[in-house]
Amino acid sequence: MAEDRPNILFIMSDDHAAHAMSCYGSRINETPNLDRIAEGGMRFDNCFCTNSICTPSRATILTGMYNHVNKVTTLSTPMDNRFQTFPKLLRENGYQTAVFGKWHLGTGAAHCPTGFDDWAVLPGQGLYHNPEFIFRGPDGGTRRTVEGYVTDIITDMSLDWLRQRDNDRPFCLMYHHKAPHREWEPDEKHAHLFLNEEIPEPETLYDDYSDRASAASAAQMRVGGHMNERELKCRINRTLSERALRKWAYQRYIKDYLRVVASIDDNVGRVLDWLDAEGLTHNTVVIYTSDQGFFLGDHGWYDKRFMYEESLRMPFILRYPKEVTPGSVNDDIVLNLDFASLFLDLAGVPIPEDFQGRSFRPLLRGSTPPDWRRAMYYRYWMHKAHHNVYAHYGIRTERHKLIYYYSDALGQEGAIDETYTPEWELFDLEKDPRELKNVYDHPDYAIVAKELKEALHRLQSEVGDERYGKDVD
Ligand code: CA
Repeated sequence: MAEDRPNILFIMSDDHAAHAMSCYGSRINETPNLDRIAEGGMRFDNCFCTNSICTPSRATILTGMYNHVNKVTTLSTPMDNRFQTFPKLLRENGYQTAVFGKWHLGTGAAHCPTGFDDWAVLPGQGLYHNPEFIFRGPDGGTRRTVEGYVTDIITDMSLDWLRQRDNDRPFCLMYHHKAPHREWEPDEKHAHLFLNEEIPEPETLYDDYSDRASAASAAQMRVGGHMNERELKCRINRTLSERALRKWAYQRYIKDYLRVVASIDDNVGRVLDWLDAEGLTHNTVVIYTSDQGFFLGDHGWYDKRFMYEESLRMPFILRYPKEVTPGSVNDDIVLNLDFASLFLDLAGVPIPEDFQGRSFRPLLRGSTPPDWRRAMYYRYWMHKAHHNVYAHYGIRTERHKLIYYYSDALGQEGAIDETYTPEWELFDLEKDPRELKNVYDHPDYAIVAKELKEALHRLQSEVGDERYGKDVD
């Protein structure tokens, strides 16, 4: 007889913003199968990442530690697989564990997946069509190309593993999609979607970056102007005005993005159907999330990195019929940092003292502890690399966000060593949810700014990070 401990199916995609999921009120697409998870469980509206890029967020999820602790600060700092992780602890405690799909924490014996009974992962970002995989094996695994479309293949691998598992022990499966990461290459089945439609534009598509710190206008991630022909899959007419180019490129970009999301949705549906057919739905915790958010033309941008809402927010929906009321919504602040502690808690495994997150199991039951966090700490380290986004850290509370662009590489691997004058940004999210007006220097916000700055430094010190040397005024 199977034991009571729940199975954990952790579904994570790459760069899937919550505002491209219908359960989060998307204006631009439908995701009926992802919505099944939200309708059958809980939707978290304020789940945030602590560093909005792939490798660091994934390392935080596995280790339950901030990036200044696990040392995975940028895309050039692969994770040392000697760190303790929640899959290792689950496996030591009788769980069957596996990971299939995107890993992006490094390759070779020092960085390949550990703590898993089985795994097959894409090297680096991986390909959409006929991708190469690294399969579990000695010395970091063996490489082999698999014919087909990446989202289908990762799903097939996951289902094959589930079918052959030991039915008497619980499982933890990390089912990790490459999609919808660039270059957004759809399969034939979804290539026709949205062909004769015009996708609604976001309110801030033509943002002019006024009333912000200089980091916003300096960022080189504008839809159109900063995109290349591989991303748009056609020749780009660079003689168009910036506005005309952005309008045209947005449609090209967002349609492909939504097509690759549609494939994820179909494939997640296959797995949910399988759980239903096997009678496993009741005792399986199903999560759908993404390693961070993404700008879907918001602020005129694609990509992520900034502490702004669209990039900071992770979709996080969780279904667990034994504990969670269907169709419930939570707006407490939870972090990618907390996932490891939550999973160990659900599995009845003690949480190591050096894990920095907190299990949010009480939130699943609709009960927020009185001392639950009211603010979160964020830090982006990869100064200037890839999209010229300046290094920054900040604090977000329920109402405000204070960002400090210290704009210095600080010797981080992969960051670019050019230093600029630091700048502050303060947003009142209640009055300015789109973050268009920096009120840091506004007299009405002088007290708020002072309090937030103190809270930021307190939080920074609590989590063991260091404040930037010139961070005084
Ligand atoms: Ca990502």
